[in-house]
Amino acid sequence: MSRYIESKCKLCRRERLKLFLKGDRCNTSKCAIERNRTTPGEPAKKIRKKLSGYAIQLREKQKVKRMYGLHEQQFRKYYENAASTRGVTGEILLQFLERRLDNVIFRAGFAPSRSSARQLVNHGHIMVNKHRVNIPSYIVKESDIVEVQEKSKNLDMITQTLAKNGGKTREWIALDLPKMSATVRQLPQRADIDADINEQLIIELYSK
Ligand code: SF4
Repeated sequence: MSRYIESKCKLCRRERLKLFLKGDRCNTSKCAIERNRTTPGEPAKKIRKKLSGYAIQLREKQKVKRMYGLHEQQFRKYYENAASTRGVTGEILLQFLERRLDNVIFRAGFAPSRSSARQLVNHGHIMVNKHRVNIPSYIVKESDIVEVQEKSKNLDMITQTLAKNGGKTREWIALDLPKMSATVRQLPQRADIDADINEQLIIELYSK
């Protein structure tokens, strides 16, 4: 799979929002959004035009796609799966994104960002239900146990991130810090997922 190799901060600047793509740096004054950098390619004093309805929908989709570090094709596939599943399409779309293994690793506090979490999965440091899984897009189910491989438990990235997070995670994940394992207590509900996402705009965009 191709990787996005441009500056991650540029993506935040494009969305004019902190997408938290660089781990610890995102919480420091070095963050480009904190330093009030302009949108890439936009002169500092340009007067911003009012966005059309389509542009607002497009920006929301780009924002969420970038938050989860996905390409258009992958993101659209999640939408199609959500649309063909019974329930509220927008909520199911977000649920699929949250249930990705790389996201669970990030939410559990084993990695400082989703891209670092993806690296941990790709490099075989993660097990699901006692089996090694190296597919970041693996979708977890209720009661799945996600854990760090025994030989990887001393990795600096993992120990340092866990120490910084102090065991903080989401309601739908039960964390066992000494074992470095996370159990999916229940599937994530809308209230468990970032409130500043307007998933309805994404559904409207793709339904055209
Ligand atoms: Fe975005 Fe993080 Fe870069 Fe800030 S430091 S612009 S939040 S990736």
